[in-house]
Amino acid sequence: MSATNSDTLYQLNGVQQIYKGRTVLDVAELAIRRGEILGLVGPSGAGKSTLLRLLGFLEMPAAGQIIYDGQPCSPEWPDLETRRRVTMVFQKPHLLRRSVSDNVAYALDLRGRKNGDKDVTQILARLGLAELADAQAGTLSGGEAQRVALARALVLQPDVLLLDEPTANLDPYNIKLIEEIVRRSNAEDGTTVIIVTHNIFQARRMAERVGLLLSSKLIEVTETEMFFTQPQHAQTEDFVRGDLIY
Ligand code: ADP
Ligand code: MG
Repeated sequence: MSATNSDTLYQLNGVQQIYKGRTVLDVAELAIRRGEILGLVGPSGAGKSTLLRLLGFLEMPAAGQIIYDGQPCSPEWPDLETRRRVTMVFQKPHLLRRSVSDNVAYALDLRGRKNGDKDVTQILARLGLAELADAQAGTLSGGEAQRVALARALVLQPDVLLLDEPTANLDPYNIKLIEEIVRRSNAEDGTTVIIVTHNIFQARRMAERVGLLLSSKLIEVTETEMFFTQPQHAQTEDFVRGDLIY
């Protein structure tokens, strides 16, 4: 898939996003490595979801440059095919009023992939959803629905998986399952994963590196153990310690 041999999949330089005259994201520099799991933490309103939308090419930045797979982003790049290999899972799954397997098959249909029955069966099994294949989406528990959303993303065998608080409000059983599935996808398929999470323990369990966003600024991105034990910035220490209290 790689246009270059670089280990860097995304390079952000001076990227800003501005909504209604207010700068909600201001990232001087960020390099995301191909094949890593990057955790993003920070308080509500810090700009985490905005950053994720930019990484998913759902919006263009108001200023600065995003280089993806060696080429600067523009209306032509990433091209449609490349964009489609970057998928996002949100906190609340938006499923169609159809069966579980239809929801997953639909993701393939949208991308013009026919004869995906085997892929659908395989991915449902991988997510522990085989027995629910014919269940209507509306009858699922929150955790099951989120696993369907993840199945819908993973069936596309994405190069990048963007997760926006994917396990918020889920029970420990589903959290554990989802974390395992994501880790497996990263380890076996080399999927680059960027996970935004409110839960610093989840970031610590899953990520190779963790980044902290505070009021629109990326404070630091550090190898996970260092992030928690010897962060570069006092603000990170405060954030980690503050979160540990709750
Ligand atoms: P986080 O995900 O860290 O909670 P967000 O990226 O969602 O933060 O939001 C960052 C800031 O941008 C917040 O102050 C939010 O209110 C604002 N914001 C987000 N989306 C929009 C929008 N479409 N229009 C105006 N303001 C927005
Ligand atoms: Mg958010």
